[in-house]
Amino acid sequence: MAVVEADGVTFAYGDTPVVEDVSLAVEPGAFLGLVGPNGSGKTTLLELLVGLHRPDAGSVSLFGEPAHAFADGERVGYVAQDATHAGGRMPVTVREAVRMGRYPHRPFGRFSADDRRAVESALDRVGVRDLADRRVDRLSGGQQQRVAIARTLAAEADLLALDEPTVGVDAESREAFYELLAELNASGLTVILVEHDIGVVTTHATEIACLNRRLFFHGDPDTFVETDALADAYGGDQHVLAHDHP
Ligand code: ADP
Repeated sequence: MAVVEADGVTFAYGDTPVVEDVSLAVEPGAFLGLVGPNGSGKTTLLELLVGLHRPDAGSVSLFGEPAHAFADGERVGYVAQDATHAGGRMPVTVREAVRMGRYPHRPFGRFSADDRRAVESALDRVGVRDLADRRVDRLSGGQQQRVAIARTLAAEADLLALDEPTVGVDAESREAFYELLAELNASGLTVILVEHDIGVVTTHATEIACLNRRLFFHGDPDTFVETDALADAYGGDQHVLAHDHP
């Protein structure tokens, strides 16, 4: 069964659809890079895929259930644009923010040894253990992104959806961040990444979806760079992005 499956999805905020007739399936273990020009509907499609909007036409299923009604929230980690979500603006420490990932597992009960282990292991895997007692809102954007990922790992999510996670993050931290994503993906986590840097996705993702309201391409990165999908989707702007190619 696909992790997420969109079938003929159309969605508008007003009268004009910003996502139109998009069908695509994301299989377990995939690392999908979602690319497209500014305003092409990437964020909206990602939000549709994780059930934050209900399609006007077509359907989205998440783990086989209608996405907008999906209730098993801990299976899906969603990291919205602007990293400052891990602890919000609350004065919580990194460890506390990551512990929040366990709440769905413990709606009433006390934290068990298993919960504590899951939290410590998540802190280790994303390399933020040395920040565990620092306040999340005092960290850099890149560090906050890692905390958000750690929280998803602590929740034992099966799908991680990220929206331009490294905006405002320096080049070196970005590269380390994408290597971390590739590593987590290799260990079984399904990843959907909205990213404006085509080079990043063709390097790290296992499949590419190229959007400009409609879906222009969905397939493997090698085929993507050989087709005209990029030029078609970006119209006259594709040369602007050429420097992003590896
Ligand atoms: P992208 O992520 O590719 O930049 P978005 O999904 O953010 O694209 O936006 C697609 C289109 O929908 C844009 O024209 C944007 O202005 C519009 N849009 C996005 N969010 C809203 C909203 N909440 N209300 C109305 N229009 C929106």
